[in-house]
Amino acid sequence: MYSNLSTPEVSQSYRLIIDIELYQYIMTLAQESTPNEIIGMGAIVKEYHKHYTDFILTDVIVPEQYVSPGYCAFKEGAQNKIIRDVIEGGGNPEELCFRWHSHANGPVFFSLLDEEDIANCDSPYVVNMVINAKHEMIARLDVFEPVHFRNIPVSIIIKPIPYEGLIVECQENIRSCCETITRKDGPKGRITRIMPNGRKERS
Ligand SMILES: [Zn+2]
Repeated sequence: MYSNLSTPEVSQSYRLIIDIELYQYIMTLAQESTPNEIIGMGAIVKEYHKHYTDFILTDVIVPEQYVSPGYCAFKEGAQNKIIRDVIEGGGNPEELCFRWHSHANGPVFFSLLDEEDIANCDSPYVVNMVINAKHEMIARLDVFEPVHFRNIPVSIIIKPIPYEGLIVECQENIRSCCETITRKDGPKGRITRIMPNGRKERS
């Protein structure tokens, strides 16, 4: 079912964009499930830019699963049930290329078991994220077609969703604190060196 999904170019750099609400949701799941791990899926939409690709997280899904302090795995048939639900809800199952799980109080890394799970993935590519209850996170991209490109680094961007009151408050702060200057109005040159006597040399 994933055969028509285009795979990302591997020569680019990649960003996983998570808005603040989905971030809070995932992190609260990790917090509240601790000391157990927890695993989930998610939907991503790709956005191509000239020098990088964004994977924008649009949904987070928690399947039926087995959990313990050192283990988490989907129950049999749980992934198919999610795909069915997405189709029935009018969504696009090809966007379900995001996997995440929590290591509870443990460090974030991709364990041998995680590597196995990734290698068994049935989509053309997958973005994987490991988080923990200390709010640490790592992400990676694996592309399976035409061959398996493993462990491509993905930077994680938490995107704010500013509301009207916050925008106004920030604008007022900027107006009262920040004075726009032109270069020639500013300090004379850039500090290039601080001498032993504390004198600042400028360019
Ligand atoms: Zn893991």
